[in-house]
Amino acid sequence: MIRKILVANRGEIAVRIIRSCRESNIQSVAIYSEPDRTSMHVRYADEAYLVGPGPSGQSYLNISKILEIAKKSGADAIHPGYGFLSENAEFARKVREAGLVFIGPQADAILAMGDKMQARELMIKAGVPVVPGSERLNDDEDKIKKTAEEIGYPVMIKASAGGGGKGMRLVSKPNEIFQAVKRAKSEALNAFGDDSVYMEKYLKSPHHIEVQILGDEHGNVVHLFERECSVQRRHQKVVEETPSPFITEEVRKAMTVRAVAAAKSVNYTGAGTVEFLVDADMNFYFLEMNTRLQVEHPITERTTGIDLVKAQISIANGEPLPFEQKDIKKSGHAIECRIYAEDPQNNFMPGAGRVLHITEPLGLGVRTDGYIYEGYEITVFYDPLISKLIIWAQNRDEAVARMKRALYEYKITGVKTNIQFLERIMNTTDFINGEYDTHFIEKNEEYLMKGEPCTLECEDLAMIMAYVEHQSHSDKRLRFSLNHHQKSNWKEYGRLYRINPF
Ligand code: ADP
Repeated sequence: MIRKILVANRGEIAVRIIRSCRESNIQSVAIYSEPDRTSMHVRYADEAYLVGPGPSGQSYLNISKILEIAKKSGADAIHPGYGFLSENAEFARKVREAGLVFIGPQADAILAMGDKMQARELMIKAGVPVVPGSERLNDDEDKIKKTAEEIGYPVMIKASAGGGGKGMRLVSKPNEIFQAVKRAKSEALNAFGDDSVYMEKYLKSPHHIEVQILGDEHGNVVHLFERECSVQRRHQKVVEETPSPFITEEVRKAMTVRAVAAAKSVNYTGAGTVEFLVDADMNFYFLEMNTRLQVEHPITERTTGIDLVKAQISIANGEPLPFEQKDIKKSGHAIECRIYAEDPQNNFMPGAGRVLHITEPLGLGVRTDGYIYEGYEITVFYDPLISKLIIWAQNRDEAVARMKRALYEYKITGVKTNIQFLERIMNTTDFINGEYDTHFIEKNEEYLMKGEPCTLECEDLAMIMAYVEHQSHSDKRLRFSLNHHQKSNWKEYGRLYRINPF
C-alpha cells in the first residue's frame, strides 16, 4: 500500500496531487528548484527537498536526483503530474527498478504512445480510425510528392516525437512540399533528437475532442466521457468543456468505445486520454494518446464526481477499479479556463514578476486549481499557467454565465494575465452558441484582441480613486464632485482589489 508519495512536479498540479494525498491519509513529499523555494506546493506538502537550480534540466528533469530524494525521504511511490517527466518511459522504468511505484502506465505503453507513428500503426491494428496519412518519410523527392498528392493538399507534416503543439508544419502547395519535409526533419532532430516525420491530411475545420479513460492491472478499462478542447491558440488548448456541444449521443458512444479499444490494445493501466480530431461531418480520427493526467482533467472530475488522482493511486496500488462502466454517470456541464501569466496585447508574451494582489472567485460551482499568492514571484523558468478556473452548472448556458461571473471576480495585479481575453471568449457569439472548431480564436481574433478595457495603470488608478472617495466621506478637504448617492465604479473596483476596508 502506498503511504508516501513524492510529487515530481511543481505549480498547480503538484498542489492538486498533494490535496488528494492529504484526503487519502498519504504523506506527500515535494521537490523544488531554487526559485521555487517559496512556492505553494512546498508549503502544502508534508516534506520538501531542494532538487536543483531553476532550469528544468537541472531540477524537475533530473532523474537521478529525484530518485535520490525519493530514497532519502522514504517515499514509496512517485507521481509525475503532467509535463516534465510524466511521459518519459525511461523515468517510469527507473522508478520501478528502484523498487518504487510509478503512478502511471507501464513504460512500454508510454513508449508506444509517445511515438506518434507507432501509435497510429497500433490504432490501425486495433480498428481505431486514424487521420489519413503516410508512413515515415525518407528523402525521396518523387515519393514525397506522390504521397502528398495521394493524401490530398493541404497536408500537415508532423514530427513523430513531437508534442506540446510543436513539430507541425502545414503545406498547401506541391512546390513547397519537399523543402518543407527537409526543414521539418532537421527541426525535429534539433527539438526531439529524432528526425522521423510523417504526413497527415490537414482537416479543414476539425474539433479536438478527447476521451478520458482509466485502466487497472486486472484488464478493466472504462471511459469517463469526452472533453471538447477546440478553443486553441497555436495548437494549444485555452478553454475546455464537457460535454462537447458539438457531437451527438451516437457519435459520443462510438468515440468512447474506440477510446476503450485503443487503451486495451496497449494493456493500458492508469489514467490516460485518447485524443481525436472530429470533422464537420462528425467523422472522428485518432490523433494521439496522452499517457498521463491532463491539464483539463478537473472538468471530468466535476461532471462524473470521480477524483482522478485518487483513482490513479488506487490503480497503482494494484486495486481493481471500484466501478464498472455502467456506474459512471455524468451530470451537468463543466468548463475550464486556463489562466496564464502572459500579455495578450504583446503577442501573448509570458510574464514574470511579483503578484501584488489576487482575489480568487468563489461561490456555487466554482473551483480554482492554482498556486500563486500575494507576494509570490513568478519566474520565467516554467510554464506560464498560474491557475485553472473550473466551473460547473446544471446546463451549458448557466455554466457560461457562471464562468463570466467568476472571471469578472478573478483579479490579479502585478503581472499581466489573459483573464480579460478569456472574458471576451465567453462573450463571443460562436462560443455562447457552442458553435466553434479549432479555428475559433483566429476567426474571432479582431474582437478577442480589441484593446483591453483596463490596464495595470488603470487598475492602480482605480484603487487610488476608490480610496480617495472613501476618505472623502469623513474628510471635507478630500471631498470631490461625486454625489454619494450615485453608483461609484471606483468603489466597486476598490472592493474587488481588496485594498481597503470599505
Ligand atoms: P501535440 O502532440 O503537439 O499536442 P497534436 O497532434 O495533439 O499535437 O495536435 C494538436 C492540435 O493541432 C490539434 O488539437 C489540432 O488543433 C491541430 N492538428 C493536429 N493535426 C491536425 C490535422 N491533421 N488537421 C488539422 N489540425 C490538426
